[in-house]
Amino acid sequence: MLEKGDNKEYLPIEGLAAFNKATAELLLGADNPVIKQGLVATIQSLSGTGSLRLAAAFIQRYFPEAKVIISSPTWGNHKNIFNDARVPWSEYRYYDPKTVGLDFEGMIADIEAAPEGSFVLLHGCAHNPTGIDPTPEQWEKIADVIQEKKHMPFFDVAYQGFASGSLDEDAFSVRLFVKRGMEVFVAQSYSKNLGLYSERIGAINVVCSAPDIADRVKSQLKRLARPMYSNPPIHGARIVANVVGDPTMFGEWKQEMEEMAGRIKNVRQKLYDSLSAKDQSGKDWSFILRQIGMFSYTGLNKAQSDNMTDKWHVYMTKDGRISLAGLSLAKCDYLADAIIDSFHN
Ligand code: PMP
Repeated sequence: MLEKGDNKEYLPIEGLAAFNKATAELLLGADNPVIKQGLVATIQSLSGTGSLRLAAAFIQRYFPEAKVIISSPTWGNHKNIFNDARVPWSEYRYYDPKTVGLDFEGMIADIEAAPEGSFVLLHGCAHNPTGIDPTPEQWEKIADVIQEKKHMPFFDVAYQGFASGSLDEDAFSVRLFVKRGMEVFVAQSYSKNLGLYSERIGAINVVCSAPDIADRVKSQLKRLARPMYSNPPIHGARIVANVVGDPTMFGEWKQEMEEMAGRIKNVRQKLYDSLSAKDQSGKDWSFILRQIGMFSYTGLNKAQSDNMTDKWHVYMTKDGRISLAGLSLAKCDYLADAIIDSFHN
């Protein structure tokens, strides 16, 4: 980019055209008919957070009666974002402490009970903070209920490629909804998968039911973005467009994500093996293997998490979440000792 003499002129409100094309194609697949038919309104926004915030402003303005339902628990900033945009929200059941797994029945019941036309916020993959994702069959059922209740699916995709190691596999949930012909909101982030945290690179995509609707949605998103931040940053958008547009760099990126995701899977396996070998209580630790992405919900409560920190110097969030990205194979045995001690004392 330096050699090419790229400058720092303003981008248009909607962002870098090459980035918007690349980001929609990564999300939906380059051959997706909704792209060919011009059904997708894509605006480059300020990473995942800014894209969620822009969509929240859109909901507040054009769906003033609607509420958003979010998973319990969820990424802490979701509540701030909808509070700030003055969009009412409530929670749907998601985490089941008994199984350290998904409360699927509770989730379906709560989505069903929400007022018709609610926005249902879903984590596209690698649910933060639990690491617990629905299975493909469960995604189908979630889509059934959302369709029946005329809700609007609203995906937060912050870890595409980082969860399974495959960009396509991690977009499975979003593509399933789109394939059904549903209108869908999707916020994307390149913080984790391309390490662009502070470049603030992401997008909001709205898949619409007709090209003229997509044009109008895009135009209204631009009207909202203009007084909020005027236009998005250029440098990181060029990084994404250049990486995706160059077969060698694109291949390198995909390979590195695969390695990263593979390392996290190895750490999960080793932690599970250590816990199973050391724990005499017969507790089933297999939930660790079923979780996906960089986080694991251990099921430790606040007092137990305090024990982890005070006695073992393992630093984690008080909801029992650990980041596997910060764990090495060599430390799994130590961590297993700490977890077992905290659980049983
Ligand atoms: N959504 C989720 C679920 C996240 O975990 C994060 C980052 N922690 C984001 C959105 C947004 O991150 P950013 O604004 O850096 O893209």
